[in-house]
Amino acid sequence: MKYNVNAIRNDFPILHREVYNKPLIYLDNGATTQKPLRVINCIRDFQRFRNSSIHRGVHYLSEQATGEFENARKTVQQFIHALHPHEIIFTPGTTASINGIAFSFGEKYVKAGDEILITEMEHHANIVPWQMLCERKKAVLKVIPFSDEGKLKLDELDRLITPKTRLITVIHVSNTLGTVNPVEEIIRKAHASDIPVLVDGAQSVQHTPIDVQKMDCDFFVFSGHKVYGPTGIGILYGKEKWLEELPPFQGGGEMVDVVTMEKTTYNGLPFKFEAGTPNYIGAIALAEALQYISGLGLDHIAAYEQELLDYGISKLSELEYVKLYGTTRPKSAVISFNLDGIHPYDAGMIMDKMGIAVRTGTHCAQPVMQHYGISGTIRASLALYNTCEELDALVDSVKKVKTMFS
Ligand code: PMP
Repeated sequence: MKYNVNAIRNDFPILHREVYNKPLIYLDNGATTQKPLRVINCIRDFQRFRNSSIHRGVHYLSEQATGEFENARKTVQQFIHALHPHEIIFTPGTTASINGIAFSFGEKYVKAGDEILITEMEHHANIVPWQMLCERKKAVLKVIPFSDEGKLKLDELDRLITPKTRLITVIHVSNTLGTVNPVEEIIRKAHASDIPVLVDGAQSVQHTPIDVQKMDCDFFVFSGHKVYGPTGIGILYGKEKWLEELPPFQGGGEMVDVVTMEKTTYNGLPFKFEAGTPNYIGAIALAEALQYISGLGLDHIAAYEQELLDYGISKLSELEYVKLYGTTRPKSAVISFNLDGIHPYDAGMIMDKMGIAVRTGTHCAQPVMQHYGISGTIRASLALYNTCEELDALVDSVKKVKTMFS
């Protein structure tokens, strides 16, 4: 199949709008992706014709909605190649998934003096919940550092893993540097010491095929809105044995079996972890998004985005005043850079007026900025619908910024 980016762009209505009377060039996909029409229509049609709360309803609409919700779970299961549908828990997003595991795992398995191992390139969502756990339990947070090229220093892993290590959590693809971390290698080492691993897939699942069984991670989390689905829905995948063992992280309706005023027994998987009315419309629309990108083929998407990445990097590298961050390979479709002597925020403001949407700042990864001693970067994060022409426009805008500040 030939990758037809122009046809693909027609699936995304927002890409045809203008900002400041200029064509929108959307390069902020790491923050959130745009939605194809079939996802937009899926939400609209469900609300309009089929809406009903799921589970425990005997009426037609409720049963139909329940069926669609549970089918969405199977779609996610197949998409990440989980063994069972009940290993897929719907949450509001990556942040909620990580907080849930940090609380639940922490309550059961972490005590004073135990250690949690994270990396220096984590998003705040995969730092703060673990710091909160460590504070609660008087545990210790340890950190795998990275090199200036943006590569994790895995030779330090043997020293950092100790008999007190309870869990390792690692970002699959860095949202600031684009580094694709060798999670399989980390997992192999961790499992050799019986340590479970959580993988933050918020920036990988939209760029590369995921097989959680091959990866052998214990937990894998991601957000719907970064994978062409809606906001407010995300996934917590956990191996059955962990999800069976862990206590629920929220109490409420649906997650219970029998409730008396004295005691409550819990429902089975996956419902034990889905307290309250779930975002069933979000789940169904997320499944629609996953079917859409599966139809395009994750391998095709990955190959196309690598071409885009290489093109953008080669063009920006020609400019001697551009400093790129995250030069190691393998690397996903994120280009983080700064312009000599120009604050990223100022550059971003000017680029915006040219119709170019990039993100500037710390990208919720302040420790990465601290590593380089900088206040932030300009980040162009690419998606399956971006083009080399858009990257040319990005480079032109960079040149213009430089001229204006000279
Ligand atoms: N982890 C990574 C790597 C991310 O890029 C993000 C979002 N920028 C998150 C976690 C948090 O995702 P969300 O805000 O959708 O919960």
